[in-house]
Amino acid sequence: MSLSEFDIIRRFFHREQVASGVVLGIGDDAALLTPVAGMSLAVAVDTLVAGRHFPDRTAAGDIGYKALAVNLSDLAAMGAQPAWATLALTLPEVDESWLGDFAEGFFQLADRFGVTLVGGDTTRGPLTITVQVQGHVDVSRALRRDAARPGQHLFVTGTPGDAALALQTLQAGETVAPELLARLNRPQPRVAFGVALAGVAAAAIDVSDGLLADLGHMLEASGCGARIDVDAIPRSRWLQPLDDAHALACQLGGGDDYELCFSVDADRVEQVCEAAQSCDLSIAEIGIVEPQAGIRCVRRDGSPLEAGYQGYDHFRNAGG
Ligand code: ADP
Ligand code: MG
Repeated sequence: MSLSEFDIIRRFFHREQVASGVVLGIGDDAALLTPVAGMSLAVAVDTLVAGRHFPDRTAAGDIGYKALAVNLSDLAAMGAQPAWATLALTLPEVDESWLGDFAEGFFQLADRFGVTLVGGDTTRGPLTITVQVQGHVDVSRALRRDAARPGQHLFVTGTPGDAALALQTLQAGETVAPELLARLNRPQPRVAFGVALAGVAAAAIDVSDGLLADLGHMLEASGCGARIDVDAIPRSRWLQPLDDAHALACQLGGGDDYELCFSVDADRVEQVCEAAQSCDLSIAEIGIVEPQAGIRCVRRDGSPLEAGYQGYDHFRNAGG
């Protein structure tokens, strides 16, 4: 390595800034942080491994961005306001231009959400990025997976399935429209909306492994099930030209969207719609929570989703 570990940290990751709650940031044996009084810390960590969580040729800036984005999405799904992050970086070699791009992608998102990088670790090995984030949430308002109850309305943000289509297109060796590719490489964590949902929505989860899979986790934790109108799930302009089964497979089974799926009591639906509007975010009501376990997918006319459309099974174990 031409640059030492300390050179790398100083050059790419250590930034002079006084952020709220940071008594001591990068440079000592541990960071010293002061949480907001009366709030709980929400802590999430996610690892991205080259070749497994992103294609080997993914641009460094996209990797830096996404490593933080997936974690901010987890905080959003709890209704937590992000504050701090740590970064454990395992690098096969020291490539200064790669590191510069990586840091730029990371800090672009960190700056947007006021997240301060307070520490980390830098080692040599197969390219692996672990980011941990900490945020604040009022426990009584946190959006837990186990809080869905029969009768609540189910919503999803944005247009699920885009990231899966982008990945499929990429893997088929075809050209991907830049805006569609951004849905895979630069997902928008729904931070402001997640915070707005705290204390308003009931249960929430972020869609990382596919809408049905993640909704299934939420319902299972809550001990109930749901009925989903698959035609109510918004279909982006990229999915619209696909045949119906393919589009549905992307929407129901495609991972990596980092949209939020959540349940709301009927008398809070209006409040949720107003929150979405003030966040300039589109949301769609896609179904209802029911007492019976499992997810029942129906078409707009109420007929069950035919077996031939269950193409999403193909994706179901593709997450992780
Ligand atoms: P130690 O050996 O005490 O664990 P390190 O040499 O690993 O310390 O790290 C020195 C300082 O740099 C620590 O404050 C650590 O949190 C920080 N650090 C190391 N790697 C990174 C990184 N990739 N990003 C941000 N901070 C880092
Ligand atoms: Mg260390």
